[in-house]
Amino acid sequence: EAHKPSNFLRQIIEKDLAEGTYAARRWGGSPGDAAHHASGQPDPAKVRLRFPPEPNGYLHVGHAKSICLNFGLARDYGGVCHLRFDDTNPEKEDTEYVDSIKDAVQWLGFDWKNNTSGAVETNLYQASDYFDFMYRAAEYLIDAGHAYVDEQSADEMRINRGDFGKPGTDSPFRSRTPAENLARFREMRDGQLLDGAAVLRAKIDMASPNINMRDPAIYRIRRAHHHNTGDKWCIYPMYTYAHPIEDALEQITHSICTLEFEDQRPFYDWLLDRLAEGGLIATPHPRQYEFARLNLTYVLTSKRKLAQLVNENRVNGWDDPRMPTIVGLRRRGYTPEAIQLFAERIGVTKSDSWIDYSTLEGCLRETLDGSAPRAMAVLDPVKLVLTNWDEVMGAGMLDDCSAPIHPHHPELGKREFKIGKEVWIDRSDYEETPPKGFFRLFPPHLNASKQAIAGSKVRLKYGHVIECTGAVKDAEGRIIEVQAKLLPDTKSGTPGADSVKVKGVITWVGVNDAVPAEVRLYERLFREAQPEGGGVDFLTNLNADSLKVMTAYVEPSLASGGAIEAKADDKFQFERHGYFVADRVDHAAGRPVFNLAVGLKDSWGK
Ligand code: ATP
Ligand code: MG
Ligand code: MG
Repeated sequence: EAHKPSNFLRQIIEKDLAEGTYAARRWGGSPGDAAHHASGQPDPAKVRLRFPPEPNGYLHVGHAKSICLNFGLARDYGGVCHLRFDDTNPEKEDTEYVDSIKDAVQWLGFDWKNNTSGAVETNLYQASDYFDFMYRAAEYLIDAGHAYVDEQSADEMRINRGDFGKPGTDSPFRSRTPAENLARFREMRDGQLLDGAAVLRAKIDMASPNINMRDPAIYRIRRAHHHNTGDKWCIYPMYTYAHPIEDALEQITHSICTLEFEDQRPFYDWLLDRLAEGGLIATPHPRQYEFARLNLTYVLTSKRKLAQLVNENRVNGWDDPRMPTIVGLRRRGYTPEAIQLFAERIGVTKSDSWIDYSTLEGCLRETLDGSAPRAMAVLDPVKLVLTNWDEVMGAGMLDDCSAPIHPHHPELGKREFKIGKEVWIDRSDYEETPPKGFFRLFPPHLNASKQAIAGSKVRLKYGHVIECTGAVKDAEGRIIEVQAKLLPDTKSGTPGADSVKVKGVITWVGVNDAVPAEVRLYERLFREAQPEGGGVDFLTNLNADSLKVMTAYVEPSLASGGAIEAKADDKFQFERHGYFVADRVDHAAGRPVFNLAVGLKDSWGK
């Protein structure tokens, strides 16, 4: 894949492929264990990666990076990527999350099913299916003198673990014989000990400079119902023990994880080396490689914290368009192409950094610009009356206007709408006393140096040139109507159109054919780039004004039967405003609802 920028993971994979590192892999375990594979014996020559989420919440943009990375590398190197539910932790899982994770992976454009070599592999796994093997592996470690049952209290264990620069102290249970350990471990399994009364620990090195190597716990007693294995087990493997075994059984080649697991790598290798010695797994065993997790400004990337926002009703569910979840981004108008482009653009590195949210937004703009149909919309409407319409055009007359669906794709055709005596314009397009550089609507007035300034001439986009004459206010001084004169023979696309030069062009929708629509304008969910910067509670930085709901008017071509009829999930560029999506949930033919996906320019904070 020459066109893709290289990175350290690509280099590792290319080297392993060139050297045939895994092509020579031999299965050491019992055939029953290899049969965890949908295809029985997997093709050893293939790159085999995995995406292993814990099904305890909805996936977020950080997971999207990991999905694009793992599935993308598998695709680029003719390999496969497994989707594995890491459900070794009882209590937390939910089928709602399992389904949403599958949806997210497929929506992003990837699949765990793979049939590159004729045989279809359905590489969908759940880690809890390996509990029997994990238990057998634990008995093997005990037998071989590599694990022991420790019955110190949790406090004693913590104190005896020592600290950085201070070696730990051996547990008094560390010198038990394999036979004693095995008997005790079976008692743990058989429910003869209370929760927390004992743990199985790997026997490695209590003086290791790496605290993770100081006899880490690998099994604990926990009387909890498991969604897959029910009440079969009252002991459960620890994540650090389970994960390398899951990788090994699935014959993963490159196990890619985030940097916080770097200190776990020695244990990963220690464990798999021991199991390989015992002939329990294939060799060479998988290797772990770490990359920097995605930190994105103005959002949180932690399922637990996102769950808190949902549970405390700070947002309207996991798919709230302000959420950095994949379902939230999707409802916001993000496309798989935009997220894939983002993942590629940020790349993979080995050092932690923050990616600016505008990078993600830029990817959305870039991918929508070439395809999204254009439409006019007035988000904060005020009426504009063309006071000379009846004389110039005739009382009650409407004039036909048209615009390209996409300015660079004439083949897509045109949108049609009408202009009449009254049109809706955006309130912000009129200023009684215009600031410098304001080229939209303003009436005749005296400027700061008491010079008489004429009313502005602007073009109603795709329509006529008008000259502003004034406005009508209500008793509170609020503008309820803007007034202007139509300049005859200036209509867009007609011979005299350019006879009057204008500095401003504004968008509008005819009062007679406007379609009312709910428009939801979103701002960032947090006011600070790093919502937890300085160690504060992220709730203190929640942006209270992150949602504004407008009753807008949109052009009739978006309505049923129109040239660009809006259906749920369709994206549009509302000219001068930004990209909008018809809400996946609430949009209906007779009740249009549009969400702001992203503005036209990066204007945040300006
Ligand atoms: P969370 O803390 O949000 O629950 P997690 O890492 O515990 O995240 P898992 O479901 O265990 O979530 O993660 C599945 C995969 O997604 C892991 O391999 C992990 O490395 C990756 N991942 C999670 N968060 C990020 C992130 N911010 N950037 C890149 N990859 C991530
Ligand atoms: Mg996790
Ligand atoms: Mg986590």
